[in-house]
Amino acid sequence: MPEDFQRHTCRYVRNSPVDWASLVNTVVELQALFSALLPQNCTLMALLVQKFGGSSVADVEAMKRVARRIVETRKAGNDVAVVVSAMGDTTDDLLDLAKAISPGPPPEREMDMLLTAGERISMALLAMAIEDLGVRARSFTGEQAGMRTDKSHGRARLLDVTPDRVKAALAEGYVAIVAGFQGVSEDEDVTTLGRGGSDTTAVALAAALDANVCEIYTDVDGLYTADPRIVPSASRVTRITIEETLEMAAQGAKILHLRAVEYARRFNVPLHVRSSFSDQEGTWILVGRPLTSDQEETMEEPLISGIAHDKSLGKVTAVGIPDQPGAAAKVVGAVAAQGVSIDMIVQNVSTSSASTSDISFTLPESEGAAAVAAVRELQHEMGFADVLYTSHVGKLSLVGAGLRSNPNVAHRLFGALADAGINIEMISTSEIRISVITDQTDLADAVRSVHTAFALDADTEAVVYGGTGR
Ligand code: ASP
Ligand code: MG
Repeated sequence: MPEDFQRHTCRYVRNSPVDWASLVNTVVELQALFSALLPQNCTLMALLVQKFGGSSVADVEAMKRVARRIVETRKAGNDVAVVVSAMGDTTDDLLDLAKAISPGPPPEREMDMLLTAGERISMALLAMAIEDLGVRARSFTGEQAGMRTDKSHGRARLLDVTPDRVKAALAEGYVAIVAGFQGVSEDEDVTTLGRGGSDTTAVALAAALDANVCEIYTDVDGLYTADPRIVPSASRVTRITIEETLEMAAQGAKILHLRAVEYARRFNVPLHVRSSFSDQEGTWILVGRPLTSDQEETMEEPLISGIAHDKSLGKVTAVGIPDQPGAAAKVVGAVAAQGVSIDMIVQNVSTSSASTSDISFTLPESEGAAAVAAVRELQHEMGFADVLYTSHVGKLSLVGAGLRSNPNVAHRLFGALADAGINIEMISTSEIRISVITDQTDLADAVRSVHTAFALDADTEAVVYGGTGR
């Protein structure tokens, strides 16, 4: 039967009030069954975007396994658009290569030219592997897929997504493969979306195609209550709200690119994070819908969704700042002017007779030197005593709905750290999060202790299928 005849789909409407994450899942599962019963020209279909990360396509074998999975999905009658990352550690290897060629900061335009090659290798090889299994496939660069971005090389933002060629390929029955993490600027220059940006490509493509679901394939079976590389007893989360996922990603959980989560929230793209190495159901990330009934039952209980950690932070402290209006604005303003992103800010209460206080903030370790220099510039003018810098601090964040209003949660968290003999350097809270700063060397222990204290440990060990964690 010509592929074109299979195109008539019964698509489910998004934004319906039903629990449609499970509905989509059910559709995908049942459609093989239904299509056998339906007349030949009426197949129940879904449009899926499947994103495969670097570890899922690390070598020839992995690439072939991914191709088989895509072909299976296609043969079940679905339209499939795929987004791929560069193979394994290719992006890091290319960065090393650039550094070896020229020690100075490389021209950003050329860097993006170089890095986008990684994803192009993947997309072409994957198309070949799929064709080899008897299914037609076509690969597209970010530009060909209509990923228009601004001009900021290395951290470009999507301005417009018009995947006309992808749509046409799908309509002709092809599996469409899009190179992740890249686009083209208003100047027709190739750009990249920043490290880990293929997730964002996938979500943006899913939104533009109005896909039923965006599946993010990785090397673990979904989102866990903590990084399974650090906490082997971490439990898999079956469902989580997009807000909690956003908080987890923002606090350093490595599973999803933060911008991808933001995009999914804005455009109501349902995500299913799962492993390309197993057939296990992964984690459904739910958008724009009320709590499920089992969540409602426990509504007054703090719902811990997990522990995120970030181990590459530094801490700057300006000591003895005059306690007067405008001081904090000056310090933070000077740092912001350097383009440094500040994370947690704490000002202690001024108790000394000299009426001074200290302001501390955390930031990515790599930006420590720039921030210290900026604050030092103010030291003389503002007359404060000193600028201190601690590298190698880490942050542990406990994330879950309704945390702030429950003092027992904070008590249990701090108690667990105390029992483990771990010192807390800073604390901050939000509606759905409590974060603490500790020494970097204590961080893994801290995560394990808190995980156990909140009874999050599973009976079985989480499987990490691949990836070098680089
Ligand atoms: N290959 C790029 C990186 O390693 C983009 C991605 O994997 O999402 O950051
Ligand atoms: Mg990667």
